[in-house]
Amino acid sequence: MPYRRLGNSGLKVSALSFGSWVTFGDQIDTALAKDCLTAAAEAGVNFFDNAEAYAGGKSEQIMGQAIAELGWKRHSYVISTKLFWGINGDMINMRNTLNRKYLMQAIDGSLERLGLDFVDLVFCHRPDPDTPIEETVWAMSDMISAGKALYWGTSEWSADEIRAAWLIADKRNLHKPVMDQPQYNLLHRDRVEEEYARLYDDIGLGLTTWSPLASGVLSGKYVHGVPEGSRAALPGYEWLRDQVTDPEVNAKVSKLAAIAERLGVTTAQLAIAWCAANPRVSTVITGASSVQQVEENMGALDALAQLDDGLRAEIDEIFAS
Ligand code: NDP
Repeated sequence: MPYRRLGNSGLKVSALSFGSWVTFGDQIDTALAKDCLTAAAEAGVNFFDNAEAYAGGKSEQIMGQAIAELGWKRHSYVISTKLFWGINGDMINMRNTLNRKYLMQAIDGSLERLGLDFVDLVFCHRPDPDTPIEETVWAMSDMISAGKALYWGTSEWSADEIRAAWLIADKRNLHKPVMDQPQYNLLHRDRVEEEYARLYDDIGLGLTTWSPLASGVLSGKYVHGVPEGSRAALPGYEWLRDQVTDPEVNAKVSKLAAIAERLGVTTAQLAIAWCAANPRVSTVITGASSVQQVEENMGALDALAQLDDGLRAEIDEIFAS
């Protein structure tokens, strides 16, 4: 497993990492979580992604419990949480915000659920137009000074918002944002490749990218409809069904599958490798609902080894229109 610096920081994260959205709490209990985490760690994964809002806090509880039962040493892994949506119902100041009160209380809740003294990475899960960026930057910097997190970053902030936060931190001598967590896959690439383009060199932005398979579509599993038990068949995920069964998208995925077959890898492995091949990406956060998927997805490293410029161009052409 290759390890890459998280942006300009000295922290090294595995090129492939493992996250818990949708899965932990709804598809995966603590026993299965232990097996999936073990499979990922055995492949060399050292970064595990979570968020306060995942399964209403259950995802953090399961990951914390699983890691405790596995007896992992704290220095052996990097773990994150993300704050914004809140899990305290409609309580004003506690949902859809990045105000100081929410952030300071939310991190304590996450640490309690994870059973940890600190997280390595904490993200502002979305931008909050109702809170001055300066207030959020002070709160995130104070969170780090208090030892509750080691690095902070953003998720799906615009390039302007990230730069504004960085400049405030620079001017005030505060802890700067180190990374963003944007979606990045063959179907969704503009933010990473175009919008953020100047941020990599200007402020040393690192990326922990999400949904390398666009929720599974890029594995080819939806080419013939929605399989039972898949994410798009889950109650509450009806919104995904039209996207994953889009015939135009699946026609492209079928072409990707033909290339994968030629290379002797699976379609999912090729799609994940394509994300990891971008040197701006510090780590590709994979997701899986079974140990078998974790093992298959970690095999993306074999595909990565074969992904030269010619192959990338061939793949890019399929998804260009
Ligand atoms: P993917 O796009 O890779 O989708 C993962 C899902 O696809 C799995 O849960 C599984 O669903 C299916 N799948 C995975 N591997 C295979 C395979 N080899 N063959 C067939 N199906 C497969 O990633 P996620 O959308 O899960 O995102 C990854 C992580 O990124 C999350 O866990 C989270 O940590 C982070 N994230 C962050 C966001 C943010 O706003 N910051 C937003 C979303 C995710 P199933 O088997 O149920 O069909």
